[in-house]
Amino acid sequence: MNIAIASGKGGTGKTSVSVNLALSVPGPVQVLDCDADAPNVHTLLPLKTEEIEPVFTMIPEFDEVKCTQSKKCAAFCPNHAIFVGKKGIQFFPELCYGCGGCILSCPNQAIKEGKRQLGVTKSGLTAEGVQVVYGDLNVGEPLVVPVIKAVKNKASKQNGVTVILDCPPGVSCPMVESVHGSDYCLLVTEPTPFGLHDLQLAVDTIRQLEIPIGVVVNRAGIGDKQVYSYCASEHLPILLEIPHSRKIAELFAEGIPFVTQLPEWQPKFEDLFRTIEERIE
Ligand code: SF4
Ligand code: SF4
Repeated sequence: MNIAIASGKGGTGKTSVSVNLALSVPGPVQVLDCDADAPNVHTLLPLKTEEIEPVFTMIPEFDEVKCTQSKKCAAFCPNHAIFVGKKGIQFFPELCYGCGGCILSCPNQAIKEGKRQLGVTKSGLTAEGVQVVYGDLNVGEPLVVPVIKAVKNKASKQNGVTVILDCPPGVSCPMVESVHGSDYCLLVTEPTPFGLHDLQLAVDTIRQLEIPIGVVVNRAGIGDKQVYSYCASEHLPILLEIPHSRKIAELFAEGIPFVTQLPEWQPKFEDLFRTIEERIE
């Protein structure tokens, strides 16, 4: 079972929910941290050992001897990553997303496949036996989706393993790529006008993926009741409320999952997991 934990904006407590759920799920569990721009699951769940693998994207390599400067590759490239001028071919790798179309468009077979490293995936086991995989993008690298795909490729295919995907915030391609294919999506929000606005955007996006949605209200008690009214009107079940709590915030700041220090929360997260299981079946 794959459960995506997402939110329309950062800072809602998505990673905290992912990690505390992972520590409360009965049976084997794997956490995929898909927020390759700013992975932080491993700060709450440190790895005992770390296996590192590079992630590459395809880029074109030009053979200037074979090239007749037809400009067909430049005309094809949707991202304007190729410029053919008096000085020959200029290629801007950071604009290339590896579609391969320029290779097909060249009449002289003057382009072959090369590769460019975008970052790495790191994976390993925690002291609690949770398998964590995360993507680590090179500094300044704009192409995040291939790294997310590489993280997702490491999802366990074994029966009975619960895979929790901590997704990037927002509603753009990285979030959609991360949530896509999940059995259930938990949207974490907070009861404020900003929280409501971003929740609405996230719900609209996830509904297009036709994935069932549940809501976790974090920092319950602050703000107003609009998030609750919206969820009721949209028939979105609120599966868990986590109160605004100084103790929980302090534990998070210290890198400590709060279910380990506040044991009354473990059964609540286990109930959350059981409810999701029932809703998927
Ligand atoms: S692989 Fe695609 S995006 Fe990259 S340069 Fe070629 S056509 Fe442009
Ligand atoms: S399509 Fe091929 S021949 Fe034409 S400019 Fe590009 S590399 Fe050169």
